[in-house]
Amino acid sequence: MCGIVCYVGDKQAKGILIEGLKQLEYRGYDSAGIAIQNGNAIQFDRAVGRISELERKISDRAMQGKSGIAHTRWATHGEPTEANAHPHRDRDERVFVIHNGIIENYRLLKKRLETKGYSFRSETDTEVIAHLIAIYFHGDLCEAVRKTMIQLEGTFGIAVIHRDVPGKIVVARRGSPLVIGVGENCHLAASDVSAMVRHTNKVVHLLDNELAILSAEDFSISTVQATPIERSTEIVDWQAEDAELNGFPHFMLKEIFEQPETVRNAIRGRLDYAEGIPRLGGIAPVWDSLKQCRHIVIVACGTSYYAGYVGRYIFEKLTDIDVSVELASEFRYRRINFAPNTFVIALSQSGETADTLAAIREAKRKGASLLGVVNVVGSSIAREAGAGVYNHAGPEIGVASTKIFTSQLTILSLLALLLGRHHSLSLTEGVEAIRAIDALPGQISKVLSLAHSIEAIAEKYYLKSNWLFLGRKYNYPIAMEGALKLKEISYIHAEGYAAGEMKHGPIALVNPEMPTVAIAPKDSVYEKMVSNIQEIKSRRGPVIVVVNQGDEDIKEIADDVIEIPGTLEFLNPILTVIPLQLLAYYCARLLHRDIDKPRNLAKSVTVE
Ligand code: GLU
Repeated sequence: MCGIVCYVGDKQAKGILIEGLKQLEYRGYDSAGIAIQNGNAIQFDRAVGRISELERKISDRAMQGKSGIAHTRWATHGEPTEANAHPHRDRDERVFVIHNGIIENYRLLKKRLETKGYSFRSETDTEVIAHLIAIYFHGDLCEAVRKTMIQLEGTFGIAVIHRDVPGKIVVARRGSPLVIGVGENCHLAASDVSAMVRHTNKVVHLLDNELAILSAEDFSISTVQATPIERSTEIVDWQAEDAELNGFPHFMLKEIFEQPETVRNAIRGRLDYAEGIPRLGGIAPVWDSLKQCRHIVIVACGTSYYAGYVGRYIFEKLTDIDVSVELASEFRYRRINFAPNTFVIALSQSGETADTLAAIREAKRKGASLLGVVNVVGSSIAREAGAGVYNHAGPEIGVASTKIFTSQLTILSLLALLLGRHHSLSLTEGVEAIRAIDALPGQISKVLSLAHSIEAIAEKYYLKSNWLFLGRKYNYPIAMEGALKLKEISYIHAEGYAAGEMKHGPIALVNPEMPTVAIAPKDSVYEKMVSNIQEIKSRRGPVIVVVNQGDEDIKEIADDVIEIPGTLEFLNPILTVIPLQLLAYYCARLLHRDIDKPRNLAKSVTVE
């Protein structure tokens, strides 16, 4: 959601910035803009729609200059028009600002400025920042930004250039990510490292209420109170190629096919066969409280929430702990009783999900111990949680999450098994689970080999406008996730239901025009799923089933069958979700949807 890229160095900035914006495209945006500084002159341009539109607009403009800032906007205040696109500037066109986030007190600030005679060119909350910096500027740009930050309430990542301060960029943050990149004869800054990995893998994270001034030669960080900060660089293990399609037509398909590897990465070095126990180094700081906890609260949003939902069943199977799963966006409205032995697990791909971040802050305030399961190293949730397990899955670029979901499920299984072995699970049970987890990457490859037959099923049904997904127990959240995938990228209406609830309502919808996807591996609820399938068939609803290989009985009643390998019951979701990801993908492709950038959606939701 929205993006910032900045460059100052010994090369022309324009191409580097446009390239950087393209790396952020996957996050979702509605307009884009750029400002380039050359000595005391700043040129800028903005365009509604895709970055290619901005690129086209500026293609015949020289826009020389070796420092600049660029932005993709995801409108929160004011429509996605050119006037509202960033950068925004002050009255005299000296200060240019780009901003991610929301300034909550902008109305008040705007009113004050208006009474002083300032007029506004946009409807955004951002424009006040440009005016304030211009007012506070008396030669020291950092000082002007600091004074402005004190006035601002809400969340921001900002980048600022000033006509009278050539060759310098000031960036600042509060609640919205900003990372500095240390390159050769250059410095970059971006809201997401993927915008910089072509130029450097050395990064420095800016924390809340900090700002930094960058030049080609160096950078320095300080707090809003002007205290200097020394922070060492970190090396990111993402490669530029990770952010490329490598022959796949879409990132989503590439990421679906990466799952044998990403699940392997989630377990690499973490399985101890001799003890039948996983090893998770990142949880050491909280191990004592985790070991003793009696209640786990899992907080997450979207697909991660469904991973947490499956996690609840897994924890309850392998441990003696009570588990609840909470939508992070609702968390602060709940009155949850944090008994001393309550533990919170936060799940987030980006580690920047605003609601999840707010939820862990709330949990911390109430004294809970916590850990994060996060993909992006050094992200806000990874830092704030203080302990955690990384997915190590490489960048996930498709807006609809796939590989992180199965990676999260794998990590939750490891966590549950670890605790289970400290409670009552035997060595034999532990070894059996370890062996089954270790076999998952190979089994995922087998499921992926069914892609063509799943595509054929999509061809049969992609024009149906309502779908039902059903599952029980571990596969109930998978039914919800399957429906969410289909909605997100194909815009087909779909409902995910606990199969037992079907008779309490949704069965009224069943007719020959509504396909049902039933997830029915041979598990403890298999017979009940078979009954549900029969009930749908009796009402002439078409049924697509996901079953275990060799299930001859279901073949006789279902219209379409997807056969997947068997595993331990609690690991089934890691395999059953994959055909649903592929089904959603192929339906969306047949409908010519913009699969990696579905309408209205953003990759990491950094506003509440
Ligand atoms: N609130 C600002 C606007 O609506 C920034 C939005 C963003 O984060 O892209 O322009």
